[in-house]
Amino acid sequence: MDPFRLIIDGKKVPTKQCFEVLNPATEKVAGLAPLATREQLEDAIRAAKVAQKSWTKETERKRQTACRRIAERIEAHSEELAALLTAEQGKPMGGLGSRWEIGGAIAWTQYTASLSMPPKVLQDNNEGRVELFRKPIGVVGSILPWNFPVMIAIWHIIPAVLSGNTVVAKPSPYTPLTTLRLVELMNEVLPRGVVNCVTGDDDLGPAMTSHPDIGKIVFTGSSGTGKKIYANAAESMKRMTLELGGNDAGIVLPDVDPRQIAEGLFWGAFINTGQTCAALKRLYVHDDVYEDVCEELVKFARKMPMGEGTDETAMLGPMQNLRQFEIVSDLVADARKKGRVLLGGDPPARTGKKQGYFFPLTIIADLDNGDRLVDEEQFGPALPIIRFRDIDEVIEKANDNPNGLGGSVWSRNITTARQVASRMECGSVWINKHGMIQPNAPFGGVKQSGVGVEFGQEGLEEYTNIQVVFS
Ligand code: NAD
Repeated sequence: MDPFRLIIDGKKVPTKQCFEVLNPATEKVAGLAPLATREQLEDAIRAAKVAQKSWTKETERKRQTACRRIAERIEAHSEELAALLTAEQGKPMGGLGSRWEIGGAIAWTQYTASLSMPPKVLQDNNEGRVELFRKPIGVVGSILPWNFPVMIAIWHIIPAVLSGNTVVAKPSPYTPLTTLRLVELMNEVLPRGVVNCVTGDDDLGPAMTSHPDIGKIVFTGSSGTGKKIYANAAESMKRMTLELGGNDAGIVLPDVDPRQIAEGLFWGAFINTGQTCAALKRLYVHDDVYEDVCEELVKFARKMPMGEGTDETAMLGPMQNLRQFEIVSDLVADARKKGRVLLGGDPPARTGKKQGYFFPLTIIADLDNGDRLVDEEQFGPALPIIRFRDIDEVIEKANDNPNGLGGSVWSRNITTARQVASRMECGSVWINKHGMIQPNAPFGGVKQSGVGVEFGQEGLEEYTNIQVVFS
């Protein structure tokens, strides 16, 4: 098995050591990833710094064209990327799996390539002209998670390069391979050094966040790591976009048709086997429809096939790694003591055989705030359901969490739903759906779910500093 290579200064760079990346469905080796040394990280940052000097001088139009050509490269290699993604991440090829993620990466790249940041004239009169310019920050360090390794890399890299920055990307050690290949494809289009990719263990991240030559960190991952990054980057006063954990509440009002909303609730909660930042992670259902919603959701969930991602009939894959499997197992074991298990709840014992990290779809009713599966982010296929009677009380419970990424309200009455939505403390609220992000709408968390936003004009502007010229 040939090891993958780092991508530094437009070249594929071998390393002395490699590490194994496991296929989560089989626990067999999916590929060998390069283990970068600190010197190689330095090489990547230096290459990015040099390249930025000329990249920033290119016209915006030229950078837009480069981004469009990246979308074409991804499209031309979409099946190859999807297969590699399934091998290392575990998600199915079909459904809302690898092909869908690659398709999303293409769509996001194309849309972002159409954005522009012309100077703004703030004043032009007898007293003078005042103009606002958006200037690139310099070298952007992108630190990535393992749940959507291609799509999130695109979310970080494309707006960064479009606005004239250069990038050093660091994928999660669990899923480095597809991102390396993606950056290799980008390098077929971009000048050398504009996008670099280093992979290794968790020590590379802190070295990036404290590095004086990195001007901005864009990080997607857990709130715990986000806090460490925030602290570590303070010394060099880096610009920051932090997209962190979520524990999104969904509120189901009494006027819904339980059968009609079951599919939306299911995918809101279980997309990517629940390993999604803005998944529905706590479901509050009004007493009038509680039992019916539980029943319809379970009925829908029972039909969803889980299996190895290469099986074209699979709609859901395994959990990505053993660490996360154990976190979810622990939370579910705790929830079983009090709640009513409607589905699953009994993960297979780890026997020492390579059985994959398959965790059964789990739905547990009759839980409440104060129970761990409700209060903590599970980031896996286990949904707690909580009964409510009073709207003020449920809004208080939904907001009683340190996270504030997304939320949803389910009702036939859009006016009422919008009123409830406006009272939820989170960055995005969906009505009769959950987690439907799109490239033209800013997305980010409030409270401990993050700092700043991605996507759209507002997301693009986060890759710039403002310079105001008074003349
Ligand atoms: P993680 O925090 O464990 O790791 C993310 C990345 O940080 C990895 O590349 C890791 O190597 C690196 N890292 C680890 N320690 C570091 C340190 N001290 N300094 C710098 N980098 C360090 O997160 P994960 O388990 O890969 O991802 C799951 C989490 O990500 C969940 O909480 C999920 O909600 C969150 N997430 C959020 C969003 C969002 O947009 N808000 C999107 C996807 C995932």
